Amino acid sequence: MQNEELILEEQPVKYLDWNYPYFTVNEMVCQHTGYLGFNERFMDSLVTLREKCGFGFPVTSYYRHADYINIGNSHPIERKKLEATGKAGSHASGKAIDIGVDRERAFILLRTAMDMGIFTGIGVNQKGNSRFIHLDTCNASDGFTRPTIWSY
Ligand SMILES: [Zn+2]
Repeated sequence: MQNEELILEEQPVKYLDWNYPYFTVNEMVCQHTGYLGFNERFMDSLVTLREKCGFGFPVTSYYRHADYINIGNSHPIERKKLEATGKAGSHASGKAIDIGVDRERAFILLRTAMDMGIFTGIGVNQKGNSRFIHLDTCNASDGFTRPTIWSY
């Protein structure tokens, strides 16, 4: 049975229960704290999407830690959101990822993700030298207005 909540491991190097192919713990951890937070249903969907696409997903950003008590321990992007709105962004839920693809692969990724019908938030950054596609599975119960699409 899938856990619907965020699973948080503060010492992911010692984490023994990471069963997702194609994605390493190192590329999924919060780049500020080193913590690994993830959502099982999201990860299953991500692996399915990866297999349907058939090419590698360079992970630009997955988990970003948001600490509501010790706000300074948060990933800088989440800290800004906490300070501005009192609420963390989708990456703090383990249900959001930025995938560094462009052009044809960005097209295939978007078409495949939308066909799956589970991804509800889509962000498109396709200019300059750091192009990526954001995908998340957040919804109203997470406090997000979905479905939606935005550009950066
Ligand atoms: Zn994102």
